[in-house]
Amino acid sequence: MKNIYSNIYKNSPKNLNIAIKILKKNNIIVVPTETVYGIAGNAYSKYAVKKIYKLKNRPKKNPLIIHYRDISSVKKDAKINDRFKKLYKKFSPGPITYILEKKKKSKICKLANAKLNTIAVRFPKHNSIRNLLKKIDFPLAIPSANIAGKISPVSPGDVIDEFGKKISFILDGGRSQVGLESTVVNLFGKTKILRPGAITKKHLKEVLRERLTTFKGSKKIRSPGLLKKHYSPGIPIKLNSKKGNNKVAFITFGKKYKNGKNIFNLSSKGNLNEAAKNLYKILRKIKNSQFKSINVAKIPNKGIGVAINDRLRRAAK
Ligand code: AMP
Ligand code: MG
Repeated sequence: MKNIYSNIYKNSPKNLNIAIKILKKNNIIVVPTETVYGIAGNAYSKYAVKKIYKLKNRPKKNPLIIHYRDISSVKKDAKINDRFKKLYKKFSPGPITYILEKKKKSKICKLANAKLNTIAVRFPKHNSIRNLLKKIDFPLAIPSANIAGKISPVSPGDVIDEFGKKISFILDGGRSQVGLESTVVNLFGKTKILRPGAITKKHLKEVLRERLTTFKGSKKIRSPGLLKKHYSPGIPIKLNSKKGNNKVAFITFGKKYKNGKNIFNLSSKGNLNEAAKNLYKILRKIKNSQFKSINVAKIPNKGIGVAINDRLRRAAK
């Protein structure tokens, strides 16, 4: 059954089959994942991958994450190592992306990984996308389903807000549970967190038992998503603020703030996971209101709070 929007499809076996048919023709669709909604296309097809870049207006030098069903399916495209095996066992399927060395004979379309000798691989947990991956014999390139640099979508309605009717098939998987993009960890050479996410430095350290650095940005673009202005609602953002006013939306966190006309509490319980889940929802709501700018209260920089602050900093650039 279709939704009131003619391009949103409920998650059913019949609709999953329609999705597979579209993907097999190297066309693209929108899929739910536990992090954010994504635009999916056959990672082996240059036609599909080109369509993704074009629709998103994504710079060609920003590579895509390739999504697999399991460790055995990734072996034909990437060289796996011990660190990967350990982390995979603990955190996958889930909101974490691994950078591995690409195999020479890999069929991954060169455009999808920006001609690098590495590929970013992820094993998503959301049931719909997992079921889909189990039924196809190619991996999916899936970046977030938003125009490059804008706010990531966490529901089918958000995807419509970004693209209107430009996408003919959106698979409805409900609200994204994590609400922030995956942790990206480099495992080719030095272990390094390239993008913070729900799986934190502490989580990774517990498994790997080694020192871990976090990428702070350099001229040579390793993980372009980390460098640029991103996740932007299109109005100025000021961090570590104390209040807002009629024209200035105030994003808060924790018990001491009440919700109000211009006050948007990420989590009145003071729960950082809830705050992460609400962040893009609230940024989008403010973007679509009359506010001229956004002030953000201090958000604890621990656990997933590190990722929340990372996204807010870049949204404020
Ligand atoms: P997005 O698809 O918008 O969630 O962003 C994907 C992130 O993964 C971006 O920050 C990319 O730069 C990063 N990424 C993808 N492939 C690679 C790779 N081979 N090496 C380093 N970073 C990558
Ligand atoms: Mg993105």
